[in-house]
Amino acid sequence: MQSPRILLSPPHMSGREKKYINDAFETNWIAPLGPNVDGFEKELAEYAGTRGAVALSSGTAAIHLALRLLGINKGDTVFCSSLTFIASANPIVYEGAEPAFIDSEPDTWNMSPAALQKAFADAEKAGRLPKAVIVVNLYGQSARMDELLAICNHYRVPVIEDAAESLGSQYKGRKSGTFGTFGVFSFNGNKIITTSGGGMLVSNDEEALRKARFLATQARDPAPHYQHSTTGYNYRLSNILAGVGRAQLEVLDERVEARRTIFARYAGELGQIEGLEFMPELEGTVHNRWLTTLTVDQKQLGIAPMELIEALEEESIEARPVWKPLHLQPIFKGAAYYPHEKERSVSDELFANGVCLPSGSGMTEEQQMKVIDTIKKAVNRKVSIS
Ligand SMILES: *Cc1c(COP(=O)(O)O)cnc(C)c1O
Repeated sequence: MQSPRILLSPPHMSGREKKYINDAFETNWIAPLGPNVDGFEKELAEYAGTRGAVALSSGTAAIHLALRLLGINKGDTVFCSSLTFIASANPIVYEGAEPAFIDSEPDTWNMSPAALQKAFADAEKAGRLPKAVIVVNLYGQSARMDELLAICNHYRVPVIEDAAESLGSQYKGRKSGTFGTFGVFSFNGNKIITTSGGGMLVSNDEEALRKARFLATQARDPAPHYQHSTTGYNYRLSNILAGVGRAQLEVLDERVEARRTIFARYAGELGQIEGLEFMPELEGTVHNRWLTTLTVDQKQLGIAPMELIEALEEESIEARPVWKPLHLQPIFKGAAYYPHEKERSVSDELFANGVCLPSGSGMTEEQQMKVIDTIKKAVNRKVSIS
């Protein structure tokens, strides 16, 4: 039954998932390995255009393994986008390394090349370059990969592309998530396609992917007697969930189209309102519009972003602020932070003004018009009072 509540990004099944689940049951592959796992890896690698992929229990696990494969150790520094979900940076802490956070730039909301350059210059001066850079593609929008990679390549520091939110997006004709040494996707329940929970590590380095598989299965040495010479994890994806993923992957491009249509409707209906500004789409890219996000200019509209979110909540519509930047998180108090400009932190501005709107690919036009009308009313009420 359809819930009357309009959610931000609920799961959207294709109907073919059960076929793959039934296959798993009929062949008794009820394990974190099996034909669906192999098939999902192969099909996702083909979709993304990488040499290989490793299916994992979460996107967070994929980031963690990428850091392990790059040899991140205690005391190392890892640069990471600040405006993101905490999962981008938690694995840095798992390894006892230190994150340094890089601000966003206004056009993509993603990592600022200027801030990254400053961070590298400082690190070089201190004789302590980072071991890796985690670049996040926020809400489906690709970061400025050319500019960011040029800087990282100059310093010979590898990139992990956190594409958890940008599966199906493209940057200059290539699939998002394939630009770093490693790319990471997530199939958590709220992502553009979902396995309820799951993730994928992609790379063109097949040897590294073999090692990822080894680490993800408790790092068992090739001996019959369960021998171990390094610490591993239990990070593999269930064959049942991989079946869900295979069916979801079949409709990924449709899901991207649906989310882009939803974005276009929002932009068409609300784009004329002065003071509402949608996240731009970088030229030469295809943004999957996982979430439609906008900024609310309180001075112009007389309504604060939180008031808008509350007005939507009154109609049982789920909306949220954008991610709280990691450099503002209590857990990362004291971590280094590099703003876009000396006196300007773009991620702070986006956090103060940003709102994420319901964007699920299964949302009906009628539901979306309810969201749009609620926003129009909330804005007009304020404008007419003042
Ligand atoms: C969802 C998400 C992750 C983590 O993925 P999980 O599969 O939930 O572990 C990492 N980074 C970003 C930016 C995400 O949105």
